[in-house]
Amino acid sequence: MVKICCIGAGYVGGPTMAVIAIKCPAIEVVVVDISKPRIDAWNSDTLPIYEPGLDDVVKACRGKNLFFSTDVEKHVAEADIIFVSVNTPTKTRGLGAGKAADLTYWESAARMIADVSKSDKIVVEKSTVPVKTAEAIEKILTHNSKGINYQILSNPEFLAEGTAIEDLFKPDRVLIGGRETPGGQKAVQALKEVYAHWVPEENIITTNLWSAELSKLAANAFLAQRISSVNAMSALCEATGANVSEVSYAIGKDSRIGPKFLNASVGFGGSCFQKDILNLVYICECNGLPEVANYWKQVIKINDYQKSRFVNRVVSSMFNTVSGKKIAVLGFAFKKDTGDTRETPAIDVCKGLVGDKAQVSIYDPQVTEDQIQRDLAMNKVSVVWDAYEAAKGAHGVCILTEWDEFKKLDYQKIFDNMQKPAFVFDGRNVVDAEKLREIGFIVYSIGKPLDG
Ligand code: NAD
Repeated sequence: MVKICCIGAGYVGGPTMAVIAIKCPAIEVVVVDISKPRIDAWNSDTLPIYEPGLDDVVKACRGKNLFFSTDVEKHVAEADIIFVSVNTPTKTRGLGAGKAADLTYWESAARMIADVSKSDKIVVEKSTVPVKTAEAIEKILTHNSKGINYQILSNPEFLAEGTAIEDLFKPDRVLIGGRETPGGQKAVQALKEVYAHWVPEENIITTNLWSAELSKLAANAFLAQRISSVNAMSALCEATGANVSEVSYAIGKDSRIGPKFLNASVGFGGSCFQKDILNLVYICECNGLPEVANYWKQVIKINDYQKSRFVNRVVSSMFNTVSGKKIAVLGFAFKKDTGDTRETPAIDVCKGLVGDKAQVSIYDPQVTEDQIQRDLAMNKVSVVWDAYEAAKGAHGVCILTEWDEFKKLDYQKIFDNMQKPAFVFDGRNVVDAEKLREIGFIVYSIGKPLDG
């Protein structure tokens, strides 16, 4: 029986391994983590992350061929294939601080693999890492090899939070990069055989190591760039009377552009886009390409601009001050169908509103009060468990996450219980602005013509 061990039981490690386990009943999959609370949660009825469909997959194979454990060394030692899916945040100090990827967790995982291994291993980069990381990992492993053969593969993960299980069941592509040596190609083949259990062969792409590593950074940079492009257009739409939804529809009909990922919003968030672009910027700078670095920096600048533009719109619409006014924030997660708040635009928006002395009341269907208070690092907001409660007595409502339930709220009831004039600032274009205007709201929708 092939044994797989995944180091890191996070948003990527947990779901990806659960899907491998359910699709490959003859493979034993153990997900390990140094965090006991996280592993305890994976072994409980309340999984540590919210992801549609995840519970069913985990429950179907947990205890059969899927296991979660804190006994990292034991399971690494026993595995044939080791996925490393640890966090790779932005460095906060030292060389490259604020841009470069912090590979501390990766390096300590690699050194631990070298310490405990007694048989040949395939080590798979699942985390998003800078191009050429495999070279560093190879050095760490081979210099400590004790006669063991290590093959390093890059197999970046392209799932999107909120649709992770769907994405893993039907990936657009699986990318595997390996060395062009016989050993490297044998390892590529071994990993291909795992995915071949459910992914059509034409969707499994193999490349050299550096192309695979760089493709992940490039994919995230292109996706984020698309959001910043449409958000930049949204500002121009507001200034000119054009409607960003109409513009997106019109340009998306061009088959060279395509209709996906063209929704204007309060900005992108999530743990990946910003950190991966910063990392790309750093790599460009290190390779003597400052103009290329500047090009990608602009994607982040527009994202920051979009968030502050939204806060400014709220404040200026409410007669240039929100001091002492209650503002309901609906949605705190960085997107719908996840409880993840890493780099969510809601953090910047709430801080901006509190900075102007607003009384902010937040509701999100999946994010806990503890999480919100931790993210905002201030006790100046209240967190409630109902959209109506959040909006009760409020002067304005800000919609910051596109949760489906926000489309179905009883806005008449919300209006009746708000101060007048009652404002709605729709940062995701989820509500029917015309209907809300008929009720009596003053509505601002990102990139749309303004209320009269
Ligand atoms: P995460 O923070 O949710 O999970 C990482 C886990 O690794 C943590 O639970 C941590 O305790 C564990 N860990 C760290 N060092 C360890 C060690 N030495 N031994 C055992 N466990 C260790 O992170 P994530 O969101 O799952 O992301 C993981 C990687 O995947 C990152 O590089 C990220 O950029 C990439 N990625 C993330 C997504 C996403 O949507 N979240 C998508 C694609 C790729």
